[in-house]
Amino acid sequence: MKTIFEKSIEGQVAHTLNKVHLQCGTLKEKKFLKNKKLALPELSELEILRHYTELSKRNFGIEDSFYPLGSCTMKYNPKINEEVANYLGFSHLHPLQKEAHIQGALEVMVDLESKLCKLMGMDAFTFQPAAGAHGELTALMIFKAYHHERGETLRNEIIIPDSGHGTNPATVSMVGWKVVEIASQNGRVDLEALKSAVSDKTAGLMITNPNTIGLFEQDIGKIAEIVHCAGGLLYYDGANSNAIMCKTRPGDMGFDAVHLNLHKTFSTPHGGGGPGAGPVGVKAFLKKFLPTPRATFDGNSYKWDTAHEQSSIGKVKSMYGNFGVVIRAYAYILAQGEEGLRQVTEDAVLNANYIRARLKEHYHIAFDEVCKHEFVISAQDKVKNFGVSALDIAKRLIDYKIHPPTIYFPLIVKEALMIEPTETESKARLDEFIEVMIKIAKEIEVSPEILHSAPNTSTVGRVDVVKAERDKKLIFCECEKG
Ligand SMILES: *Cc1c(COP(=O)(O)O)cnc(C)c1O
Repeated sequence: MKTIFEKSIEGQVAHTLNKVHLQCGTLKEKKFLKNKKLALPELSELEILRHYTELSKRNFGIEDSFYPLGSCTMKYNPKINEEVANYLGFSHLHPLQKEAHIQGALEVMVDLESKLCKLMGMDAFTFQPAAGAHGELTALMIFKAYHHERGETLRNEIIIPDSGHGTNPATVSMVGWKVVEIASQNGRVDLEALKSAVSDKTAGLMITNPNTIGLFEQDIGKIAEIVHCAGGLLYYDGANSNAIMCKTRPGDMGFDAVHLNLHKTFSTPHGGGGPGAGPVGVKAFLKKFLPTPRATFDGNSYKWDTAHEQSSIGKVKSMYGNFGVVIRAYAYILAQGEEGLRQVTEDAVLNANYIRARLKEHYHIAFDEVCKHEFVISAQDKVKNFGVSALDIAKRLIDYKIHPPTIYFPLIVKEALMIEPTETESKARLDEFIEVMIKIAKEIEVSPEILHSAPNTSTVGRVDVVKAERDKKLIFCECEKG
């Protein structure tokens, strides 16, 4: 006798095979497939398992080795977070569940909101945005609603320093506004350039602080004043907040809104496009524009509050957001506590400075001064003297089983390599990275050709970009219309 489990598996297999056959039939009809008889592979479960395990080993993640991706905070993601996010009460939430049944989930949102408000100096947060860029969009929609409510519909310019993250200008065009880029001076905002950029068309400023060079904008108070005096709002791109937690707060620096990347600063495995959570925090005067419904506590029980439906910009995703990521951030914050988060900040900054200080003899550091959570190397001198680029160095790191850092960003540094070690790496691991970087610096002088062909040991070698560019083979698919 077969068990119910075996029967259901059989049913599923039959169903899937049937679907495959049907799809192949359709493809054949449309003449996409030439063979009449389809040779579907017949493999055992074990062989398939081995195939996928083999493929997974070609992957690279933070759990394999060091992953110093600047401006992307790739830190260790504690396993306890996964366990908690998988509790059925959290992972099986349904949007139409009765409030009485989801008190725990609502409590997490209310409590995490108050913790994030305290950390960032804001008055309210929404968890709906599913990524950093989505948070930016949500915040600019809120800025727009605010200006329009005041009748200031001509404000349509957002000022962004040239060191800004690429998603910032992209977001500005998504809300139909214009980007006004201002040049930096010595890696920081040039106050004179900012003064001449503001006008009665200024809707706001988007900036990250510390900026993408890893430097803190000491004039942030003045920057805020200039923008506010012109009638604009201040937006803080807090995707990587590793260098400010429990040290300083965007709210205190004068910002009106901020987004956080819970998947970066607050530990969720991410990459390849997801999953993420980009909650947006605002000062009290912008709260009524936040997406609804919002989780609230009335002193008795937790509820979905729709009080601001009229003034709200509307929903930008399900009201839970990417809840698994929210739960992981909550678990991380509870596990660290305030003291722990302060230590995170101090260690992230210390680690970045340790690497910077030890590598400065071997590489040119762009704007070499005490940095925050990240710093930028420029390989421009290596290009000039040895014909070795930032790309070559990044590829060579793969041979040493280290993930390359971010390269060619920020745009204001030529041949940039942007390094963010995070707080979760040990000194031994940092030393190992430093030794490899020093070894590569020697190779650059002695045998630069090794770098041109790197990576030499990985499953997939270097893509020939020149050939790809010259020898384009574009395949167009004609899609059925209607
Ligand atoms: C990663 C990042 C973003 C975008 O976040 P996504 O979740 O990838 O959309 C925005 N700004 C900065 C500074 C970032 O590092």
